[in-house]
Amino acid sequence: MIKVSSKKNKYTYNVYHLVKAFFPNEEIIQNVDEKQESLVALNLPGGSCFSIALEEVEAAAGDLSEMETEEAKEQAIKKELTRLLYRYLEQQTRTTLAWGTLTGVRPTKLAMTKLEQYESMTEAEAVRRTVGAFRDEFFVSEEKAQLACEIAVREKKLLSKLDYKDGFSLYVGIPFCPSVCSYCSFSSSPIAEWKDKVESYLFALLKEIRAIGKMSEGHRPDSVYIGGGTPTTLEAEQMDRLLKTITENFDLSNVLEFTVEAGRPDSITEEKLAVIRKYPVTRISINPQTMQQKTLDLVGRNHTVAQTKDAFYLARKLGFDNINMDLIAGLPGEDASDMEDTLRQVEEMHPDSLTVHALAIKRAARYGQEGRKQDLHSEISQMIMSAADCAKRIGLQPYYLYRQKNIAGNFENVGYAELDKAGIYNILIMEEKQTILAAGAGASTKILLKDPIRTDSGKEINLVRCENVKNIMEYIDRVDEMIERKGEWLWR
Ligand code: SF4
Repeated sequence: MIKVSSKKNKYTYNVYHLVKAFFPNEEIIQNVDEKQESLVALNLPGGSCFSIALEEVEAAAGDLSEMETEEAKEQAIKKELTRLLYRYLEQQTRTTLAWGTLTGVRPTKLAMTKLEQYESMTEAEAVRRTVGAFRDEFFVSEEKAQLACEIAVREKKLLSKLDYKDGFSLYVGIPFCPSVCSYCSFSSSPIAEWKDKVESYLFALLKEIRAIGKMSEGHRPDSVYIGGGTPTTLEAEQMDRLLKTITENFDLSNVLEFTVEAGRPDSITEEKLAVIRKYPVTRISINPQTMQQKTLDLVGRNHTVAQTKDAFYLARKLGFDNINMDLIAGLPGEDASDMEDTLRQVEEMHPDSLTVHALAIKRAARYGQEGRKQDLHSEISQMIMSAADCAKRIGLQPYYLYRQKNIAGNFENVGYAELDKAGIYNILIMEEKQTILAAGAGASTKILLKDPIRTDSGKEINLVRCENVKNIMEYIDRVDEMIERKGEWLWR
C-alpha cells in the first residue's frame, strides 16, 4: 500500500496517476492535509519516502515572477512537482514511462497546442520542437512524442476544413444493444427488454433533434454521428424516420462526415443497410472487437465471427466504401496469438479504418485475470503493436489517439484510417475545438463559447457542457428540459 498526502487537493490528481502508473498493482491511499509542511509526501513499498516543500519546487521551476496570473504560476508549480516526483519514481523503480509525466487522456491536444505555438515555422521545424518539448518538459519517449506529433499534424489538416466559428457537429445516441457485453463501459440497455419503450424514446429523440435544428438555424453541421449503444437495433422503418428527421432539419451541405455506428453485426440486416444507403451517410462502423468465437461467447456478445464477415461483405456489396472496425486488445482469455489471428482475418476484409482500444486492466481483472496482471500488461502491449503493424500493412495511418484514465499501464487507443477516410467526429470529441450538439439519453453537449466566461470559482472557461440524463425513462419524461438547457448557452 502507498500513502500519498498532499497539502492541497489540486495536487492529488497528477500525483495519484503518476504513482499508479509506476505501481499498477499497489493500492494507493490519498489524503489532503492542509496543515502538513510538505506540498506532497508519500511512502513507497520497501520504506523509501518522498517529501517535497513548496520552496524546493519553486526553486526547481526557475523564475516564476514573470508569470502573468496566479493560475499560470500554480500550473508551473504543479508541472515542476510532477517532474520532480517522476524523476524520483524513475530512480526508485528503475523504469521509465513511455508517456512520461503526461497523465491526461489527450496527448495530441498538447501536441496540437505546441504546434500552433510554432505556426510561423516550417512543419518539420515545428514538429522537431514539439517532439523536443515532449521529451524535455514531460519526459515522453521519442517514439510516443513522434506518434503524438504525427497524429496532431494530420488532425490539424483535417480540422482546417471545418467551419469552427459557425459550424458544429451533431451527435445522436441510441442507447440500446442486442445484448449487453460484460465489459461495456457505456450505458446501454438490451433491446428485447425495452421493445415497448423504443417508440416513446424515438418520439422524444426526434423532438430533441428538431429542436436542435431550430436552435441552429443559420448554422450548418460539419459532421453527424449516430452512435450508442447500437443504432442498428432500431427497426429499418425507425432508422428511416430518424435519418429523415436529421436530413429534414439540418442543412447538410457542409457535412464532411456522416457516420452511423452500426456496431454489433447481429443487429445489421440488408433492409437496414439499404435504408442507410438512401441517405447521405458517408461512414459506417461494423465492430467485431475480436474474431475469436470463444471470446465473443465469454463476454456476452451474442454474435458469431461469421456474422461479422457477412455484415461487412453485405455492406460492401451495397456500396459502403468507408467502413470502420473496432478491436479491443486484452479481452478475457485472449493472448497475443488470438490477436494475431483476429488481425489476420480483419486484414482479409480490409476495412477503411480500424480503431484499436485497450481493455482497462481494472476491468480485465474482473474476469479472474488478477494473477496475470503483469503478463497481461506485456500481452496487451504486444497486441497493440501487432495492430499497428496490421494497420500499416492495410495502408491505414494513425489519425487520432487517446489514453485511458485509471488503468495500469500506459496504453493508448489509436484510430487508423486511409487517407480522407478518418473519422472527423472522433477527432473533434478529443480536441474540443467545436461545438457538439448531442441528442438522446446520456448524450453530452459541449458548447464552445465565443467569449470565455468566469465560473463562480474564478476559473476562465470557454466550454460549457450540458449532459442529458442517462436513464431512458427519465429522458423520455424530461426531454423538454434537456432541450431548454442547451438553448441557454448556444451561439453566445
Ligand atoms: S455493443 Fe458496445 S455499447 Fe453495446 S453493450 Fe456491447 S460494448 Fe456496450
